[in-house]
Amino acid sequence: MSPACCRCAASSSTGTSAARGRTDPAGSRSWSAPIEERIGAAVARTPVDQVLVHRLYDRDPVGSWSRGAATLLGDAAHPMLPFIGQGAGAALEDAVVLGKALAGAAAASEGERAARVEAGLADYERARVTRAALFVKESRRAAAIALPRSAATRRLRDALFPLVPESARLRHFARLLDWSP
Ligand SMILES: Cc1cc2nc3c(=O)[nH]c(=O)nc-3n(C[C@H](O)[C@H](O)[C@H](O)COP(=O)(O)OP(=O)(O)OC[C@H]3O[C@@H](n4cnc5c(N)ncnc54)[C@H](O)[C@@H]3O)c2cc1C
Repeated sequence: MSPACCRCAASSSTGTSAARGRTDPAGSRSWSAPIEERIGAAVARTPVDQVLVHRLYDRDPVGSWSRGAATLLGDAAHPMLPFIGQGAGAALEDAVVLGKALAGAAAASEGERAARVEAGLADYERARVTRAALFVKESRRAAAIALPRSAATRRLRDALFPLVPESARLRHFARLLDWSP
C-alpha cells in the first residue's frame, strides 16, 4: 500500500491526531505489538502535509427535529461520536422509519397531503428520538472508555475490562443493536 492511499486514524486522550501519533503514540500503547508496528511504519512513511486531522463532535440529544413539512435524519438529527459505530446504522434506521411514516401521505389526496406529511413526521420523530438519544449517550460513554483522560484511568480500564464477561458485553450490545422497524 503506498503512503498516499494509506488511511489510518490514531487517537490520544490529549487530543486526536494522526500527526501526533508520529512522535507520541500515546493512544496506541495498548495495541498489540504487530499492529502497532505496522501502523507506526505507515504513519512514518506518510508525508506530514498528507496527514489529515479531524476533530470529533457530537451534540446533546434533542427532543424534536421536525418543523412543519421539514425534518432531519442521520447525523443532522443526532450527531454522535463514532465509538460504537452506529451513526450510519442509525441514519439507515431513520430512513426506514421515515419511509414508512410517509407512505400514507404519498397516497393521500392533495388537500390532505400537508396534514398527513406533518402527522407522518411527528410519528417518525416519536419512533426515533429515544433510540437516537441512546446512541448519542452510549457513544459518549464508549468514548470515555476508549480515550481515558489520565494514565491512571487508562490503567484501571485495562485492568478491569478483561474481567467483564463476554456474555455481559454481548448483552449490552444486543440492547443497542436489536432493532426492527
Ligand atoms: C471516524 C468515524 C468512524 C465511523 N464509523 C462508523 C461505523 O463503523 N459505523 C457506522 O454506522 N457509522 C460510523 N460513523 C458515522 C457515520 O459516518 C455517520 O453517522 C454517517 O455518515 C451519517 O450519515 P448522514 O447521511 O447522516 O451524513 P453524511 O454521511 O455526513 O452525509 C451528508 C452529506 O450531505 C452533504 N452535504 C452537506 N451539506 C450539503 C449542502 N449544502 N448541499 C449538498 N450536500 C451537502 C455532505 O457532503 C455529505 O455527503 C463513523 C464516523 C466517523 C467520523
